[in-house]
Amino acid sequence: NERTFIAIKPDGVQRGLIAEIVSRFERKGFKLVAIKIMVPSKEFAQKHYHDLKDRPFFNGLCGFLSSGPVIAMVWEGEGVIKYGRKLIGATDPHKSEPGTIRGDLAVVVGRNIIHGSDGPETAKDEKLTYGSSHMNW
Ligand code: ATP
Ligand code: MG
Repeated sequence: NERTFIAIKPDGVQRGLIAEIVSRFERKGFKLVAIKIMVPSKEFAQKHYHDLKDRPFFNGLCGFLSSGPVIAMVWEGEGVIKYGRKLIGATDPHKSEPGTIRGDLAVVVGRNIIHGSDGPETAKDEKLTYGSSHMNW
């Protein structure tokens, strides 16, 4: 069964949006198969966003991801990778449609509250980097 990796970023946790976000995935019908709270180190964040290492905002982005607790989750369901991104909405909340998580709950791109894997390969990689041996990711 298809699985994806979803993380609620420090701004989403700090703003008290964990239940709201989890609820949207649950109501859609996806199945939560793993969840944990963690504070990513700066090195961990740099690894997570290594594709963006040449962008001017890379340092700020990694500093932000490691600034507080993150909720790391694995969700399962048919088409969950692509549809999960649809529930999340466009990267820049100014462009996300109303009805999406970012469209309804975020304003600026640097504080867009949630991450979702963008394809099967990253989903697999991210499940591994965020997972740990005692969890059945
Ligand atoms: P994510 O990977 O977090 O799910 P995404 O796949 O929609 O988001 P990416 O292109 O992978 O978008 O960018 C990763 C993150 O980098 C974005 O979620 C956003 O927080 C940040 N980011 C992207 N573009 C900018 C920008 N122009 N300025 C500041 N931050 C940015
Ligand atoms: Mg991305």
